[in-house]
Order: sequence, then C-alpha cells, then structure tokens
Amino acid sequence: MSGTRQHANIPIFIPHLGCPHTCVFCNQRTISGHGDFDLSRVRDEIETALATLGDCRHREIAFFGGSFTGIDRGLMISLLELAQEYVRAGDVHAIRLSTRPDYVDGEILEILSHYAVETVELGLQSMDDRVLTASARGHDGKTAERACESVKAHGFRLVGQMMIGLPAADGASERMTAERIVSLGADAARVYPTVVFRNTALCRMAERGVYRVLPQSEMLERTADVLEIFARASLPVIRVGLCASENLSDPDTVWGGANESAVGELAMSEVFYRRIREAMLRVSLPNDGVIRLFVPRGAASRAVGHRRANATRLCREFSLRRIRVLETDRLQGYQIEIMCDN
Ligand code: SF4
Repeated sequence: MSGTRQHANIPIFIPHLGCPHTCVFCNQRTISGHGDFDLSRVRDEIETALATLGDCRHREIAFFGGSFTGIDRGLMISLLELAQEYVRAGDVHAIRLSTRPDYVDGEILEILSHYAVETVELGLQSMDDRVLTASARGHDGKTAERACESVKAHGFRLVGQMMIGLPAADGASERMTAERIVSLGADAARVYPTVVFRNTALCRMAERGVYRVLPQSEMLERTADVLEIFARASLPVIRVGLCASENLSDPDTVWGGANESAVGELAMSEVFYRRIREAMLRVSLPNDGVIRLFVPRGAASRAVGHRRANATRLCREFSLRRIRVLETDRLQGYQIEIMCDN
C-alpha cells in the first residue's frame, strides 16, 4: 500500500471465533472461545499498515473475516477501543466491520455508534429463504431486511454482500437479492460467486451430486446480471469475487466453483460486452469496418475482454474489421460510446 489514494482499508482479520453456525460454504477454521486471540497482534498489524499507507485521504480500520458483532462482547469492545485510539490520534478516519444480519440489533448498533464506525457490511448472501435454508445460514430473509433497515436507521453506511450460485439459488433469486440490496438503501455491494472449498458441507454436497457447481459461463452470466442491477442503480460494487490470497488456485484448498481470482474481471467484461453489443445494434456500422469505442478511464482491458474475447466476439458478430478502444474521463462505470466515421 503506497502512494496517494482516496481510500484505504487496514484490514484486520477476525477469525471464526467460536461461530456456532455451519454455513455450507464456510471454510473458516472453527476456533472455540477467544483465549488465543492476541490483541497486541492487531496493534502490530495496524502499525505496520499505517507505516506503508502513504498519503491517503480516508483510512479505515476494517474488521473483516468473521462476524464482528457476534464475537465475545468484551473482545469486541477491546477491538473497538483499540481502533478508536487511532481515530483519536488522527491516524485513521473511521472504522468498518462486517457481520451477519442476525448479529445486528438496536443494542449492538447503539454500542457501535459510540465509536467511529462508519460502515457496516452485512453478509446477506441471499434474500431468498429457500437459498438461506439450503445454505444453512441460520436466519431468514426478513431478518436480513430488518438488519439492513436498522443499520441505515442508525446512520451507518451499509454494504450488502451477496453470493452467486448458492444451493437452491437461481438467476431470479439472485436478481431479487440485488434488487432488495438496492431498495434497502445500501451504499455499496460486494458480489461473491461461490467457491467450493474442500472440507466444507458444500464440497460434500457437490461430491454427492446434491449441489451443482455452475459452469463458468453460467456463473459469469448470473454475476453480470446482478452487476447490471447495481450499475443501473448507480450502486458501487466494491468487490467481485474472492481475492487471489484465498489460495483459489490451490487444488488442496479448493474443490471447484469460481476458483479463479479473475472471475470478477470476467464478469465485469461480460457487462461491457452486453453494453457494447446493445449500442452496436442501435447504430449503423461503418463501411470500412472500423469503429471507435470510448470507455471510462482504466476500463479498456475489461471492455476488450480477457484475451480480447469481447472484441473478437463483437467483430465476428457485426462483421467489423477493428474496434479501436479509447479511454476517456467523460464516462464512468460501464458507460460506453461508439463513434463511426461515416
Ligand atoms: S460463513 Fe457462516 S459458519 Fe462461516 S464464520 Fe460466517 S457465520 Fe460462521
């Protein structure tokens, strides 16, 4: 982490501290109690991150990984106090945390409001009760909705996390989930295509044929569908897919599913493909077979696609010779413009 940036998280991973749940996709190691949790390690992690952050406008300490508001209350408060020290000293601006919807209530949110907590990320995964039950999440969609409403009512920024390809899910349930995230007033979303980790209930379900791993093309289509919903609502999607650091390419760790870190890039490319195709259907294409395609700054490779897949598909479909891709500051998100010279 270096250089001038608008925003940086100092991620602090809070492990599965005695989580009583058994979500089928979860690969986090069960640790009972919190006796082995080392608070001084958190201080060291924060100090190390601060030393390398550079000039950054907005720094947050982000408690990720577990269900922050479900851990031992004393430990949760100690972590908040620690983070607050850095806020008071002016080293960080805010605190961010992720948790389960059923670990959020008025009392918890009241506690969080005494600290510089700005953003609460909720692991919603789905708003469809059938999917939540088949995934053994241990709460229903109504609970998730109430949690979103409470987070907003207490004045926090809300990030809705959802998954693609869970058991019993289909495109319709995923689109409904994305639409509910938008209508519940989320400020941003994260979208995680399902990865089947070894030693999970989901892996055993897949081995028995009870769970169907989505083919990559279907996973990308369904991920692109929800990205389109968020894009139409101008809701920022701050992450698509797990990070490469989750050992996604290690066959000892991952059994199948969205097991490549590029899945997010591929899904975003698919959205560009759809946008460009729609636009091409509306314009009269040039006689010389060359078009200029304007895309937002930094989006050229997504628009062109992995190994030029989008450009190749579009050239073939519309009998084009060449697509010249140009980046511009005028456009944002998935906005594109096509210019033909004739
Ligand atoms: S995903 Fe489910 S089982 Fe895993 S830590 Fe979160 S709540 Fe617990």
